[in-house]
Amino acid sequence: MPKHLNRDHAIVLGASMGGLLAARALAGEFRRVTLLERDALADEPRHRKGVPQGEHAHGLLARGLEIIEDFFPGITAELTARGALSGEVSADLLWHCAGDFLAPVQGGLTGIVLSRPLLETQLRTRLAALPNVVVASESDALQLLTSPDRARVTGVRVQRAAGTVEEMRADLVVDATGGGSKTPSWLAALGYAAPQEEMVRVGIGYTTRLYRRRPEDLGGRMGVVVTTQPPNPRSGTALALEGDRWIVSAAGYFGQHPPVDENGFAEFLAGMPSSAMHDLVRTAEPISDFRTFKFAGSTRRRYERLRRFPAGLLVFGDAICRFNPVFGQGMTSAALQAVALRDCLVSGGAPLWLRFFRRAGRVVEAPWSIAVGADLGFPETEGPRGPMTKFLNWYVGKLHRAAHRDPVLSLAFHRVANLVAPPPSILAPAIAWRVLRGNLGRAAQRPAAGTQLAGSTSAGE
Ligand SMILES: Cc1cc2nc3c(=O)[nH]c(=O)nc-3n(C[C@H](O)[C@H](O)[C@H](O)COP(=O)(O)OP(=O)(O)OC[C@H]3O[C@@H](n4cnc5c(N)ncnc54)[C@H](O)[C@@H]3O)c2cc1C
Repeated sequence: MPKHLNRDHAIVLGASMGGLLAARALAGEFRRVTLLERDALADEPRHRKGVPQGEHAHGLLARGLEIIEDFFPGITAELTARGALSGEVSADLLWHCAGDFLAPVQGGLTGIVLSRPLLETQLRTRLAALPNVVVASESDALQLLTSPDRARVTGVRVQRAAGTVEEMRADLVVDATGGGSKTPSWLAALGYAAPQEEMVRVGIGYTTRLYRRRPEDLGGRMGVVVTTQPPNPRSGTALALEGDRWIVSAAGYFGQHPPVDENGFAEFLAGMPSSAMHDLVRTAEPISDFRTFKFAGSTRRRYERLRRFPAGLLVFGDAICRFNPVFGQGMTSAALQAVALRDCLVSGGAPLWLRFFRRAGRVVEAPWSIAVGADLGFPETEGPRGPMTKFLNWYVGKLHRAAHRDPVLSLAFHRVANLVAPPPSILAPAIAWRVLRGNLGRAAQRPAAGTQLAGSTSAGE
């Protein structure tokens, strides 16, 4: 254990996916871990105010599930026992990219589909069962406590449900309160610089509705993902949920948001690059109202570039980086950060904050480049376009087109999109050669199979 860190008590602020995973990493190294959550937490899966995005489709990438299973052995089986479906991301889900479905392929990328509240509740149950972890709900973190010279954070001031305010001491405080994190303003109040913030605006609106799921829907698959395909600003996901339900989330960029009435929603789906989601809702029975969410843009706070930072404090999860949600990366980014935290706690050298922010900065680089790079494919997206941006979007489009028929390319894409392989892996000579061959071959073949699910040979019928 590094000498400068006393390992008695760690406090984590926020018990959403980021906070749960941070607490799990800390539990291996601290004698006590306290997780403070502002919301009242129920024992059963339920939507809550502090996680409004939980009412929308949440896909967990294969890398995220792998890490969560490593931290909580047996959790995949527990979740499937509660009705979640598990399968191969690249074979049991349909992926519509660049005009058609990617070739289905078995590649060992295990995924799980379920509601966000079920995932969070099960993780919290497992975490709270650890002997050195306490999950305290209805506990609002108001302010950081510091040493007189403000060089070290020594705890937090917390407001409890009854309205009482108490001071809790800790050797380490981890802020996992999401995009609304107050750390930048807390730092300024303590005389530190706030991190630089980068934002790539996309002006997305989500509309979501639940439907009853029948075994024959989507040919029995776990879901369909219709990716962004510029210039069409519409994308979406339908995922199977526990309780024989579908969650159908449609997203529109640049203010072109999906309507919240029956006909408008159906028309929006009909205008997506694939008709698969429209076909699904046309015959499925709706079992909820419409829910909406607005997301201005991907945001990254550059904590790794700070020169001064108080000891005893870290920032985690969405509070560091929030990605355009259509890429489904946020929970996996939090899981990767938890691995980085665990590793930093057992290594020594530079102060913990510096080591962790550097590692976390590297961890978010791949998902950030994937999400922002694709968003910059829309001319409306404002942001710095490096010389590679145009080339990469062009190349990925070609890769997708060849992957409609080439399972090797389909798997290469899925491995990157699931954060299992680094983005440059799709540029490897063997892959680039197949992309070239696949696109040359396409000219002689029939035109792309179109957007219909039924009859599409590449959808794996
Ligand atoms: C519409 C939408 C869809 C998404 N879809 C996906 C997806 O498909 N796949 C994916 O991986 N990710 C997705 N995400 C992102 C994902 O939800 C987040 O990345 C994930 O929840 C991790 O965030 P977090 O825990 O860091 O922060 P949050 O989830 O924002 O949680 C912050 C927590 O802190 C609590 N809190 C706030 N202030 C205080 C305080 N002062 N004291 C105590 N507690 C406090 C809140 O109540 C909350 O519980 C989506 C996001 C959105 C908006």
